[in-house]
Amino acid sequence: MPESTCFWINGRLLPEREAVIPVSDHGLLYGDGVFEGIRFYHRTPFRLSAHLQRLADSCKAIRLALPYTLAQLTDAVDEIVAAFPEENGYLRLMVTRGSGPMGLDPAGCKQASVILIATRLEMVHPELRSEGIRLIIASTRRLPADGLDPRIKSLNYLNHILARMEATQAGAQEAVLLNTQGRVAEGSAENIFIVHNGQLATPRPVDGALAGITRGVILELAAELGIPVREAPLTPYDLYTADECFLSGTGAELIPVREVGGRPLHHCPGPVFSALASAFQEQVADACQPLHCKPKETLS
Ligand code: PMP
Repeated sequence: MPESTCFWINGRLLPEREAVIPVSDHGLLYGDGVFEGIRFYHRTPFRLSAHLQRLADSCKAIRLALPYTLAQLTDAVDEIVAAFPEENGYLRLMVTRGSGPMGLDPAGCKQASVILIATRLEMVHPELRSEGIRLIIASTRRLPADGLDPRIKSLNYLNHILARMEATQAGAQEAVLLNTQGRVAEGSAENIFIVHNGQLATPRPVDGALAGITRGVILELAAELGIPVREAPLTPYDLYTADECFLSGTGAELIPVREVGGRPLHHCPGPVFSALASAFQEQVADACQPLHCKPKETLS
């Protein structure tokens, strides 16, 4: 992690060497836990309440008792953002089942752990951000919604990691995961949008898409800009023949796609992407204005 990275565990800001959790934590043993990725700009987290609500919903869905209220988590976020030496950054907020005896039953895990990491994050090189990235369709599928609901942002990303490795192996930057019916679900860590004949479309959560916060912002902005939009089942064919395609995510922000499975798209970046990307930047600038607040002393 970059030197500027800050750590907060169960109520305390800690230097990296002390930022440790027990190896008996079921988050490590079984991937038993949930998380959020949150960006902050000018020391203001973007769409924090939506992220905290999704975290609370993920916890509820897996019967994990959050040891803090959302107001307390907001204070923790403020604390680590103030401690971070830069104005803009990325937060990883994790809730793990906590330490317990070996075995899947979490009944012996008495106290969930809450971990916050503030760091720098550049998902793609700025050049690729303007040129557009290449996608492959991964052979690894998204877990079916009746196995694990895609709205649960769980700590286990193994099939997404396998898909991303397929992309790297193929010389592409990102992979699209299909669901077990062959419908498009999402990227390994982003939602996906296409534009066809001026109409914007994105897969539904029921088809395997995370209910992305950035995806939600794009849907709002499209409505404001009068861009027709639908949440609909999509197939690889829809991606290959799209006029435009782009990815959305907290880490990714908006990334245009120039090629899917070796098929170049008509426009990259296309006019709909460009309109939405500017509106997104305006939205961020509006919501996260400079506060002129001084960073607290960094821990050494
Ligand atoms: N899908 C997956 C699997 C993700 O990990 C992410 C990143 N959190 C997204 C979509 C995008 O969601 P958001 O806009 O909330 O970051």
